[in-house]
Amino acid sequence: MRLTFLGAAGEVTGSSFLIEHGTTRFLVDCGMFQGGREAHGKNLSALAFDARSIDFVVLTHAHIDHSGLIPRLAALGFRGPVWCTRATAALLEIMLPDSAHVQEADAAWKNRRKHRSGRFAHADLAPLYTVSQAQQCLAQLQAVEYDQPFAPAQGISVTLRDAGHILGSAIAEIIAKSQTALRKLVFSGDLGQPGRPLMRDPTRIEEADLLVVESTYGNRLHRAPQSTEEELVAAIHSAFGRGGNVVIPAFAVGRTQEVVHVLADLVRRGRLPRLTVFVDSPMAAAASAATRRFNALLDEEGQEVARWIARHKSQFNLRYTESVRDSMAINQVTGGAIIIAASGMCNAGRIVHHLAHNLPRRQAAVLITGFQALGTPGRRLVDGAKELILHGERVAVRASVHTVGGLSAHADQAALLDWLSGFRRAPRQTFVVHGEAETAAMFGDEIRARLGWKTVQVPERGASFNFD
Ligand SMILES: [Zn+2]
Repeated sequence: MRLTFLGAAGEVTGSSFLIEHGTTRFLVDCGMFQGGREAHGKNLSALAFDARSIDFVVLTHAHIDHSGLIPRLAALGFRGPVWCTRATAALLEIMLPDSAHVQEADAAWKNRRKHRSGRFAHADLAPLYTVSQAQQCLAQLQAVEYDQPFAPAQGISVTLRDAGHILGSAIAEIIAKSQTALRKLVFSGDLGQPGRPLMRDPTRIEEADLLVVESTYGNRLHRAPQSTEEELVAAIHSAFGRGGNVVIPAFAVGRTQEVVHVLADLVRRGRLPRLTVFVDSPMAAAASAATRRFNALLDEEGQEVARWIARHKSQFNLRYTESVRDSMAINQVTGGAIIIAASGMCNAGRIVHHLAHNLPRRQAAVLITGFQALGTPGRRLVDGAKELILHGERVAVRASVHTVGGLSAHADQAALLDWLSGFRRAPRQTFVVHGEAETAAMFGDEIRARLGWKTVQVPERGASFNFD
């Protein structure tokens, strides 16, 4: 058996692992590289093998850095099934066409720029994949339930376990039989932080011959949920006290539902007054509908809060805006409302006009709840910029800006180590992936030191390992 690390090796994005077992070849995840100048080139070369030779894909969850190259794999000739949980399939129906739309818009923009500069020497850039290619590959999704083993090929059995990261997220347990041996491979996917709102805690796994574990926050600890709650309550009280709005940039899938849940819970417990919350993103509305549909996957408290929201519409006035006209109408609301919109890093989408509208107002507050990459307007806000360029215009920052920690969808170092300590004995091989190179290396050292596991490696992109 052979395992090749196609991505998420020494970096966080591009999760994709090729397994060759006898004549069977399959991928665990098929993710897009994101951020940084090299991402596009890496996405172009990531599938530098015959896509038709891949028998199937096992997908851990819907995030684009795990799923985003599936339409390209299919466009290059892959015809097999993509196995994932039912909730993941529902989210992909929203996310893959949206990702394709972004690819098309990006290619069109680059081509316009090239034409303007008079550089006609090269052919026009094609998008990584088109909306219709993304829509076509959805037919290959093969949805399964958690904890129900399935056999995607002769001699291979797979079970998906709840990873507690986002709706539908899974740990993949794979048992591969050969004539002489039986091997168990475990891919952690992305693991959620235990005890966090909405999602269940990651399933503990007791055994593996070969383990591939994520390490996004392998070198740090999250702030306690209690201090996050205090920060949120204080920021909202003071903005409303000044007569302003609270603007929250948030990723449409996952983070938006989590923020809505936390806010509703604060009203339910009397920590915040009655609230009007606008969720201004068609994609977030669709993801929220999927979350309601798969309500049974939420933890108990999440289900309770969802029921409370349905029964207390006057106390928690939750409004999803679909049309651009409804979105613009929110500009009329000068105070007392919470506005959640994408993108999460303030660099595109409807959040931009809400920021342009509210940032110059001293009464308003902006709450940053997620990771802000270098070079994004969100990062400049966190770093205390007094002015931002939005849609090509200078916008003064007079609103108060708060960074609210503790809402991360990823397990921190203590939670990762705790999950690993659930293994009854050290796997024969452990590979640390899905972390910046330095973080992954530090986390590897931590595993050796704290758990006494000896065979821990941090693979590089493209590295292959053989196992008997
Ligand atoms: Zn993820």
